[in-house]
Amino acid sequence: MSEQEHWGIVGGGILGMTLAHDLAKQGKKVTLFEADKQLGGLASAWQLGDIVWDKHYHVTLLSDTELRSLLRELGLEREMNWVETRTGLYTDGKLYSISNALEFLRYFPLNLIGKIRFALTIIYGSKIKSPKKLEQISVVDWLTKWSGKYTVKKIWLPLLRSKLGGNYKKASAAFIWAIIARLYAARRTGLKKEMFGYLPGGYGRMLDRYAQILAEEQVKIEIDHLATEVRQTSRGIEVEFSNGQQAVCDRLVLTTPAAIASKLCPELTEIEKKKLNDIQYQGIICASLLLKQPLANFYVTNITDDWVPFTGVIEMSTLVDPRQFGGHTLVYLPKYVTPEDPTFELSDAELKVQFWTALRRMYPHLQDDDLLSFQVSRVRRVLAISTLNYSQNLPSMSTSIPGLHIINSAHICNGTLNVNETIQLAKQGVEHLLSSQSKKTNFDSQCLQENSAL
Ligand SMILES: Cc1cc2nc3c(=O)[nH]c(=O)nc-3n(C[C@H](O)[C@H](O)[C@H](O)COP(=O)(O)OP(=O)(O)OC[C@H]3O[C@@H](n4cnc5c(N)ncnc54)[C@H](O)[C@@H]3O)c2cc1C
Repeated sequence: MSEQEHWGIVGGGILGMTLAHDLAKQGKKVTLFEADKQLGGLASAWQLGDIVWDKHYHVTLLSDTELRSLLRELGLEREMNWVETRTGLYTDGKLYSISNALEFLRYFPLNLIGKIRFALTIIYGSKIKSPKKLEQISVVDWLTKWSGKYTVKKIWLPLLRSKLGGNYKKASAAFIWAIIARLYAARRTGLKKEMFGYLPGGYGRMLDRYAQILAEEQVKIEIDHLATEVRQTSRGIEVEFSNGQQAVCDRLVLTTPAAIASKLCPELTEIEKKKLNDIQYQGIICASLLLKQPLANFYVTNITDDWVPFTGVIEMSTLVDPRQFGGHTLVYLPKYVTPEDPTFELSDAELKVQFWTALRRMYPHLQDDDLLSFQVSRVRRVLAISTLNYSQNLPSMSTSIPGLHIINSAHICNGTLNVNETIQLAKQGVEHLLSSQSKKTNFDSQCLQENSAL
């Protein structure tokens, strides 16, 4: 295989960027194609009023070793700020702090036995090494077995709905295992306690530096290139773009969500297309608000009241120094939904009325003129849901078309979607790509291995 084999990567999110970076380090000639006008995908930044910050709330954990090592490569790790944050719970119209064991015992809305069973469920979950067996049981059945019916109804179901919307019924117990495992990652990596971190300037700053490094590594970056079709020709893998351009590569890696990859590649077999289309995604509608005054002192506030139209409150300025936001408060109001949810059709103005009315009811000290900016991000496919027997049904990273590969976040089996695991997936993906000596090799289903992912 020639060193100058031309590799194309479609999708310039963190996954595509890291694949490009690692392939370029191996001496490969790489072009990265991104539909948007900037790199970064879900992690990218935008202008909100007079600040620029991440479109979606992002926090780095002290235990995110892969991400921290990438930041080190980019010369930015020393600038990370590490903060201890607090957690809130909004339930029955009241806001409680549940930031430590004492507060949990005092305020958590369960009786003593309920609290003990709830805590034991989490401790037991954290002791389970492999989620393989958990993939065979629904998350609701597993939680009911360990926490009891009342706790499931009062606490777990609202929390599951807040992350999975109506899709919670389809999720396996591996979903909750992954969340618990991420919570306990600090202990596993030998750290005494977990802390949350951010880079001054946000992800936008990290992405600018990453793009600069890619350019120095001779990776060709083609933004504003929305791939519309991928075909095999005698010259190699040909990609068409909506801007009328074409590219031919020896090997092409698609990092887009599975259903998009299936649509882009009409020559895949029916079985391959079915596997891709069977992966079920969770979407998000995420509002960013810039406010004149703070809400409360919680980074995350979980919500169990179902009249609230969003599924959590993230007060970013409890983590990030408010001076980064011109002294203002940055709040995210996420609503996790299925890709078909009718809320996607609502305008920003309609969502603003719904979300702002509810937020004012939750935090009565807010005044109407406190709202400086309101902007909405909508993404139909964010997170592949850990359905029953998920890892057994995953498509291969290589396809029946020689030289064509599909690697995306759906390969993070039984993980939570985060940048650390995305970088790990890219590393595993590059290993796979380089070890497939023959372009004709096809591989069995594979995913980022549990535990190595955490
Ligand atoms: C609300 C929210 C909160 C989050 N919070 C955290 C957090 O606190 N900590 C953390 O570590 N992670 C967090 N994440 C997760 C993190 O953002 C993702 O893990 C990571 O950005 C995924 O990168 P990716 O490259 O796999 O996917 P994406 O970012 O989705 O990248 C895919 C890219 O492909 C491009 N594309 C799609 N179709 C085409 C096409 N046809 N042609 C060309 N390009 C195409 C897209 O434009 C996109 O840029 C959060 C995500 C969300 C949505």
